[in-house]
Amino acid sequence: MQLLLKSVDFAARAHRDQRRKGPAQEPYINHPIEVSRLIVECEPDTHVDILCAAILHDVIEDCGATRDEIAACFNDAVADIVLEVSDDKALPRDERKAMQIETAPHLSDAAKLVRLADKVANVGAMLTDIPVGWDERQILGYVHWAEAVVAPCRAVSNGLSDRFDAIARDVRAFHQQEKAEV
Ligand code: ZN
Repeated sequence: MQLLLKSVDFAARAHRDQRRKGPAQEPYINHPIEVSRLIVECEPDTHVDILCAAILHDVIEDCGATRDEIAACFNDAVADIVLEVSDDKALPRDERKAMQIETAPHLSDAAKLVRLADKVANVGAMLTDIPVGWDERQILGYVHWAEAVVAPCRAVSNGLSDRFDAIARDVRAFHQQEKAEV
């Protein structure tokens, strides 16, 4: 519990100036908290290192934290999972997205769990808090891409895979219906 709250504190400070992309402009920290909540709801026996890594999953990518810093504050296991799920921001966006598909099959099971829950949360936002300025083509494209990233991660959690499928189906139904009405 202590380690988990320490990770929430660390991530909240790291993301303090960031907001989610939706119109609600939610504090960014709501996202990693949702990701770790999804994991523990679907896989209640998940090790605390993985839940901490879920809370910290964007601090290298978005906040410039380093693997060594996380290892020093937490432990090597947490740091390695966070590093595994961090995109290389030096690469252009399209390349980063392609890399996520390429690397997904080679992730550790712990990283796959974080990756899967991350996509459940992000695809869910396409219903509840759609990124400002995104059109339906981008939204449906995102769902399609997320499915490709998730495919090799599914075996680590049936519960999260089912949630992903249900949400992807709802997002498609909602946005395709919108298209039909235009
Ligand atoms: Zn995320």
